[in-house]
Amino acid sequence: MSDTVVPTAASTPASTRSPLDDAREQLAQAVEVLGLRPHVHALLAEPRRELSVSIPLRRDDGTVEVLRGYRVQHNYSRGPGKGGVRFDARVDLDEVRALAMWMTWKCALLDVPYGGAKGGVRVDPRAYSRAELERITRRYTSEISPLIGPNQDIPAPDVGTDEQTMAWMMDTYSVGMGYTVLGVVTGKPIDAGGSLGRASSTSRGVAAVALRALGHVGIAPEGATAAVQGFGKVGRGAARFLAEAGLAVVAVSDVDGAVHAPEGLDIAALEAHVDATGTVVGFPGSAPIDGEQLLALEVDLLVPAAIEGVIHADNAAAVRAKVIVEGANGPVSSAADGILSKQGVLVVPDILANAGGVVVSYFEWVQANQSYWWSEEEVDDRLVGRMNKAWDDVVAYADSKHLSLRLAATCMAVERVYRAHELRGLYP
Ligand code: NAD
Repeated sequence: MSDTVVPTAASTPASTRSPLDDAREQLAQAVEVLGLRPHVHALLAEPRRELSVSIPLRRDDGTVEVLRGYRVQHNYSRGPGKGGVRFDARVDLDEVRALAMWMTWKCALLDVPYGGAKGGVRVDPRAYSRAELERITRRYTSEISPLIGPNQDIPAPDVGTDEQTMAWMMDTYSVGMGYTVLGVVTGKPIDAGGSLGRASSTSRGVAAVALRALGHVGIAPEGATAAVQGFGKVGRGAARFLAEAGLAVVAVSDVDGAVHAPEGLDIAALEAHVDATGTVVGFPGSAPIDGEQLLALEVDLLVPAAIEGVIHADNAAAVRAKVIVEGANGPVSSAADGILSKQGVLVVPDILANAGGVVVSYFEWVQANQSYWWSEEEVDDRLVGRMNKAWDDVVAYADSKHLSLRLAATCMAVERVYRAHELRGLYP
């Protein structure tokens, strides 16, 4: 197979590396450990399908703007595509490709019967009215509708989107079909076919894995300290669950700034402040700090829960946390991984740490397809059971093969996807 060309990141200088470079490098490392053949590597390094769409938007003042959106299906050998939809001004095709690849590994690692996909619209949602966001969502859904469906590809919320976005997506798709299709998206509001426990599932999973990771390095939750970057759907709940477990959450941040209280922030009061003002900035009883300072605080646990690439070659050496649990997708770059490992920092990778969302998305899809709804307790118990099992499996694999948790998790996932490929064979 000497003519097989595998896209790699090897020649990209550190300063211009993208999340896709990191995702491809992680895959290349797993392929090497597993000894997979070049054509398998080539198959897994490229998305199976990708769609780029134009989204004309009539703004509230009557002018028309044209936005760009994407849906990428990285792999569907183990089942329909699954992955969030991001509304962010930084969205581009390579970012969506990276996020879709990570979704493939996450679904395989947690053994949910999906492949990986991701979508995004290049737009800053904070600059648009609710009515404009509804029109963007409906037009985007309509444009990607040839690719999505409960048996094809099932979107969910991500950065800049929420339950309301999913309700609009479900409605738009259903109108096109002529009947209600609850299983086309997950992360819907409870009153529109959502699952109890879905809204907090990613955060609950992040906290559950963080407690296991702290235990792994001999740190008890009571009296331990944590810093959380990002106070959205993932970071906010993670901070709450960690505080409930006895940790002092000493710093949090959002896109507007960061706040610090060495004795621990009152998370319930902070949530009320954010609900009232839209930002963590100005929280009474806290001191403002720089976002970069938060990443360098001397804490037991650091949870980056905002965007990718925030801990990189230039700032990794400043990290003083003992454990990093990746609430976000791809927050630690490949270059930073090496530096942190030399510093003895335990990094729990995204495809394990933040998989709670896709696990409960799977539960939501199962419930929607069966029209039979579970109690919140049932959802939470099954979620934590799956997260604990995944943690145990990854740690055992890492120990047995002397790998980092990231490489172990990626190898386990890639191996499962590879086995599905082999069993299905090549068509024609
Ligand atoms: P969100 O839009 O709800 O929240 C993002 C938060 O990050 C906001 O508080 C925003 O202000 C903050 N932020 C953005 N840029 C920042 C920066 N440079 N510094 C500090 N804060 C910044 O998004 P979310 O759903 O919480 O997603 C966060 C991350 O978690 C993303 O990487 C996403 O892919 C990942 N993730 C989300 C889910 C989910 O279920 N929502 C599941 C798995 C992974």
